[in-house]
Amino acid sequence: MPTQTIDLQDLAARGRRGESCSRDEALAVLALPDSAVLDLVATAGSVRREFFGNRVKMNYLVNLKSGLCPEDCSYCSQARGSEADVLKYSWLSKDKAVEAATAGIHGGAKRVCLVASGRGPSDRDIDKVTGIVEAIKEADPEIEVCACLGFLKGNQGDRLKAAGVDAYNHNLNTAESKYDEVCTTHTYADRVDTVRKAHLAELSACSGFIAGMDETDEDLVDLAFALREVGADSIPVNFLLPFEGTPMAGKGMISPQRCLKILAMIRFVNPDTEIRMAAGREVHLRSMQPMGLHIANSIFLGDYLTSEGAPGRADLEMLRDNGFVPEGAPDDWADSLDQVDVGAYAEPAPAGGCGSSGDGCGGCGSAGGGCGGHGDTRPHGKGHPHDGDTAAPGRAASSTDEEAQSGFSAVAAFDGPVVTPRKRGAGTELPANA
Ligand code: SF4
Repeated sequence: MPTQTIDLQDLAARGRRGESCSRDEALAVLALPDSAVLDLVATAGSVRREFFGNRVKMNYLVNLKSGLCPEDCSYCSQARGSEADVLKYSWLSKDKAVEAATAGIHGGAKRVCLVASGRGPSDRDIDKVTGIVEAIKEADPEIEVCACLGFLKGNQGDRLKAAGVDAYNHNLNTAESKYDEVCTTHTYADRVDTVRKAHLAELSACSGFIAGMDETDEDLVDLAFALREVGADSIPVNFLLPFEGTPMAGKGMISPQRCLKILAMIRFVNPDTEIRMAAGREVHLRSMQPMGLHIANSIFLGDYLTSEGAPGRADLEMLRDNGFVPEGAPDDWADSLDQVDVGAYAEPAPAGGCGSSGDGCGGCGSAGGGCGGHGDTRPHGKGHPHDGDTAAPGRAASSTDEEAQSGFSAVAAFDGPVVTPRKRGAGTELPANA
């Protein structure tokens, strides 16, 4: 369909009624010239506001098990064959996991995402996770818990559900037609199967993808409709962070305009679905992230699984400045934003010790981040938002000259065409980004 034939107002009107656009229209959205992006954001934004108002759901990642994965997903820093210098550990203790989750909740997260690398959990692994989930839910029954543990089998989904897990994340990652280009140890069909198993266990299905792996517009549209077909309730849209030591190192930047077109296309195909502006937003959207929030209604807060995100406080300020309200927070939440209570997780990382930021595992995992911050600080009416700016000294030590010149220090992660793994947060004695 020629781009000039798209009627964005009509597309938005149908979206506000919950109707998906056609495949041709989705392709046409991706083909729009950059000069049309402002109109695109406005129209896609009207669909977002119809279903989600000005609310933003904040999600916090806890990496329960890091590295050591036998799968060979080429984008993943934790994959077999990856030479990325990521943290490697096998299962956080229950106390450490709950501590990390609590930090994220105090930072404002509505959902905690418990992630473990690997092909899939054993039944003993499920025992570990259910114990952690029960402790989190006992402390705060209102917090949503998403598990992301790889391929499900047997009654594992039912066991997670019985323990209080609300959602299961398993990303499709890329289009079926190119799946074997990014992974040889499992198939696209395997991934779809686990999303369906999550549904069967009555877990909310969280499933998304990674943009920036040489996919075509047709591939992205295939994904958008595949995610609708599998019934994804939330869609993390990750923008590739090419980790050093992985086959994706050196992949180029995705322009902010391209990111916005992708987000808008996903919104028009899945009008009433939670869409998360996930890993890579800081690097690829950069100063255009607030525009992305007019389309997406969900973000990860703070660090990603194996890399750093933006400071938690910077994200809270972005929400406030653009008139958004964290899901679960009172409308006047921003009044207390400056009254910060810096907890242990918000202490400065030692200079030079935090490394650079980057993408999380987008494969079995979502790609979210943790802000963290102990104390009664979350903007949910149970305290006040915490200050995460104190992570800045650690970042500054790893900023590149280019970043310094641009004045953009929120992401000290993207050192040219590669991303360096983080060395702080869960699994370390260093504080997480807040
Ligand atoms: S995406 Fe998941 S399954 Fe793939 S290598 Fe990474 S941790 Fe393993």
